Amino acid sequence: MSSTRIPVMIPRLGEEEAQAAADAVRSGWVAQGPRVARFEQEFAALVGAGHGVAVSSCTTALHLALVVLEIGPGDEVIVPSFSFIATANAVRYVGATPVFADVDVRTGNLTVATIDAVRTARTRAVIAVHQGGVPFDVAALRNATGRWGLPLIEDAACAAGSTAYGRPVGAGATISAWSFHPRKLLTTGEGGMVTVDDPEWAARLRRLREHGMNVSAADRHASSQPVIEAYLETAFNYRMTDIQAAIGLVQLGRLADLVAHRRALAARYHELLADLKGLAPVRDPEYGETNFQSFWLLIDPEYGTGRDEVLAELAAAGVSARRGIMAAHLEPAYADVSPAPLPVTERLTRDSLILPLHHALTEDDQDHIVAVLRKLAAR
Ligand SMILES: *Cc1c(COP(=O)(O)O)cnc(C)c1O
Repeated sequence: MSSTRIPVMIPRLGEEEAQAAADAVRSGWVAQGPRVARFEQEFAALVGAGHGVAVSSCTTALHLALVVLEIGPGDEVIVPSFSFIATANAVRYVGATPVFADVDVRTGNLTVATIDAVRTARTRAVIAVHQGGVPFDVAALRNATGRWGLPLIEDAACAAGSTAYGRPVGAGATISAWSFHPRKLLTTGEGGMVTVDDPEWAARLRRLREHGMNVSAADRHASSQPVIEAYLETAFNYRMTDIQAAIGLVQLGRLADLVAHRRALAARYHELLADLKGLAPVRDPEYGETNFQSFWLLIDPEYGTGRDEVLAELAAAGVSARRGIMAAHLEPAYADVSPAPLPVTERLTRDSLILPLHHALTEDDQDHIVAVLRKLAAR
């Protein structure tokens, strides 16, 4: 037994975030206001998109993306089952049907071939995920979906700071959804963002998150004249608060260092694990760089110990590892769906686990974790 406790993830929050949140409270403006507007501009610039629309989570960002694309009942949307369940759930929010496609074993992401295999005449859109921060092949997927006349929604929940073809993953996307949950690199407690290049979509998204109003509450308050708003469509309250945005603005300044540090720790894991047969750690694809939001290992039979036993041994040694990414089609909520076979998804979700990786992880922690994995391999 070890007395160490090594968490799988810790958000990077400091005095600066506490101060920024306190400043927002003291300003008297705590709902969506000037800090949200600044956060949207700075985030969009950072990820290479034209416009950012801040919302309450990535889940609500995905919902609004589908509303803006006018997806609804009778439509099919292709999604990976190998993702956090919110990706598939968003499709059901608009009354459409999620159709699960398999993923590539190295990246955990959709490919042109896996999408094409489940495409039908009713397919109206594709949601592809940059899973655990590993970019999907944006050139290949944007091209193929463009050829098929299908909009591509990019679920970049985990991927702030990841790049593809030398650019941030948000650059060149039709529409991307981001998360600021503490399990991701940047956090605002809860929070999300939609990024788009089309200014008309940005304007509609701003309305959709705020009850369908034609003028924002912030603009109404700022006006010296009485403004009578109109409600143009039935919409939602998916707003982010200025307290959250104040924290987010500080977080943006940390992203480059966070990614560099995670990549250095991931490289050290790669070195330490190199001689262990049957363990395949996640790596950069040839066309891009991951932020290593999740550092996962795929366990092959030749390793000699199964995934659940490895997790139990790590827990006994004070290491809080996690099962790998979930598969939505195996959950009770999707028991009524019978997808085409998803062999890679099922293998990845059964045989992979996520190791601790965060800014406070020390080399001693890594050595301790790898020693457990080495002991299990040697048996
Ligand atoms: C975390 C996550 C979400 C949901 O993000 P929230 O901000 O918690 O709603 C959606 N998709 C993926 C791929 C995620 O990892």
